[in-house]
Amino acid sequence: MITAIWDQLKGLYSLIVGMIVTGRYFFAPQKTVHYPRKVVDPEDLAAYRGPLELTRGKDDESRTRCISCQMCAKGCPGNCIKVVKGTEGKLPSTWVYDFSLCCLCGACVEVCPASAIDFSHRLYLVVTSREELVMDLLADLKERVAANPLKPAPDVPAAAGQKAADAPSAGAAKNGEV
Ligand code: SF4
Ligand code: SF4
Repeated sequence: MITAIWDQLKGLYSLIVGMIVTGRYFFAPQKTVHYPRKVVDPEDLAAYRGPLELTRGKDDESRTRCISCQMCAKGCPGNCIKVVKGTEGKLPSTWVYDFSLCCLCGACVEVCPASAIDFSHRLYLVVTSREELVMDLLADLKERVAANPLKPAPDVPAAAGQKAADAPSAGAAKNGEV
């Protein structure tokens, strides 16, 4: 008799604990969005790891900071990176990244001595073939800067450059970068 009552109490306790946990998540702020009617707030993407991108240059934004040291390519466990040094100083002539092989481990970002690469926040990337995941990051950097310059180009007057920087690009908006 006592055992039966004890079992009933344990079951009731378990039920109450389960309902508390369920209620906590039921009333907590929603973490997911009803895509494509809604998109994730860009501020919530700070820690998101999208495909790699080259960081903007310090003086000339469209000029990569990469010094072709090959540290990223050598340390990459997925063999995703191909960097070829060009003829202009230490700048690379080729910087190709295969996102289909990347496990987003971050080793390349950490090892880079020039802070030349980082994870993008491209959350809504869609492709129809694996080949499209092989990315020319030098071309990508130039396109991003042309679409959304953050500061005047070295040979452009300050006023014109600032005007362009104030207007978010279509590409950046599509990728949730604004
Ligand atoms: S994040 Fe990791 S797997 Fe991806 S390119 Fe960098 S080192 Fe390679
Ligand atoms: S580690 Fe950095 S500087 Fe070296 S090749 Fe890679 S991106 Fe360029």
